[in-house]
Amino acid sequence: MSGFGFALLARDGAARRGRVTTGRGTIETPAFMPVGTAATVKAQTPEDVRATGAEIVLCNTYHLMLRPGAERVAKLGGLHPFMNWPGPILTDSGGFQVMSLAALRKITEEGVTFQSHLDGSRHALTPERSIDIQRLLDADITMAFDECTPFPATEAEAAQSMRLSMRWAARSRAAFVERPGYGLFGIVQGSVYPAQREESAKSLTGIGFDGYAVGGLAVGEGAETMKKMIETTEPFLPADRPRYLMGVGKPGDIVAAVTRGIDMFDCVLPTRSGRTAQAFVRTGTLNLRNARHAEDPGPLDPECRCPACRNYSRAYLHHLIRTEEILGPMLLTRHNLTYYQDLMAELRGAIEAGTLAVYAADFARRQQADATEADATTAPERPGV
Ligand SMILES: [Zn+2]
Repeated sequence: MSGFGFALLARDGAARRGRVTTGRGTIETPAFMPVGTAATVKAQTPEDVRATGAEIVLCNTYHLMLRPGAERVAKLGGLHPFMNWPGPILTDSGGFQVMSLAALRKITEEGVTFQSHLDGSRHALTPERSIDIQRLLDADITMAFDECTPFPATEAEAAQSMRLSMRWAARSRAAFVERPGYGLFGIVQGSVYPAQREESAKSLTGIGFDGYAVGGLAVGEGAETMKKMIETTEPFLPADRPRYLMGVGKPGDIVAAVTRGIDMFDCVLPTRSGRTAQAFVRTGTLNLRNARHAEDPGPLDPECRCPACRNYSRAYLHHLIRTEEILGPMLLTRHNLTYYQDLMAELRGAIEAGTLAVYAADFARRQQADATEADATTAPERPGV
């Protein structure tokens, strides 16, 4: 088994073209990781996910520790045979979802105790337990356990939360069992305060990780603040390690973050949107519920290689959505994941060619064409109309 590593292959401004090596294969960066919360990327087989071009998926520690349980997954040989995904898997630490989903959370220096959102049963997550669960799941990339600082937070609240996460990061590092081909990432916190982002990044690089995530963003701070925080953090992250922006995001946010030196992304947007009739295309965002697609014989995105675009019309996809047929979400998810993977491939190509600025400008210009239709998804729906 080869070791865990990162190679920087090309640069274009702050943007980076790289390759992450794990024991289960390589990941070309910038990379997008589809989210497979409960050991499944919703509405897709792993073969479908692989066909989109994805090289790594993300699974959620919080969900899997509750159901089916980390020890049970370990008994069955780990996540890879369990879910039939032989490639690399990244697991989150459970911290973010404990904060957003569980009831009766209590945070102490030791960790977090909480009640399951499923059955009210009581559980505890500490840095040591989170790292052990991720080992039992057999994650190729393990995330340090952190507290996702609530937003908004005062400077004092953010500092207290960030420093707790840094002490938990040191405990995560100590609990991580080194194995060839496996890596551990630390997570920069510090809310919207540049001095805290700097302090957090320096704390983590002092501890030493195989990769560095930027956490606590895309929580409501807005795109401009997010970009500023990436710019603030990036200079303090080592160039020879991958950088991962957690939970981001919209295609335009990904382009902006790649331009600012981020290598890895994850987000539920392409899969969740696929189940709510939203499609990301080269001209913007479409709502397939919209009546204007009802008699459109053309493809969703004429430039897309996915089966939804090659074999079906907008009219048929609209019909599937209106009749709530399960094939609708399946095809739209497949399309959205393909769109995201093709976006990443185009970004990698542009960095290699040294044309990222031109690509980003062209991307923004083309997205304008259908920019307004996304708003239709918030409009009240009258079934049958
Ligand atoms: Zn498509």
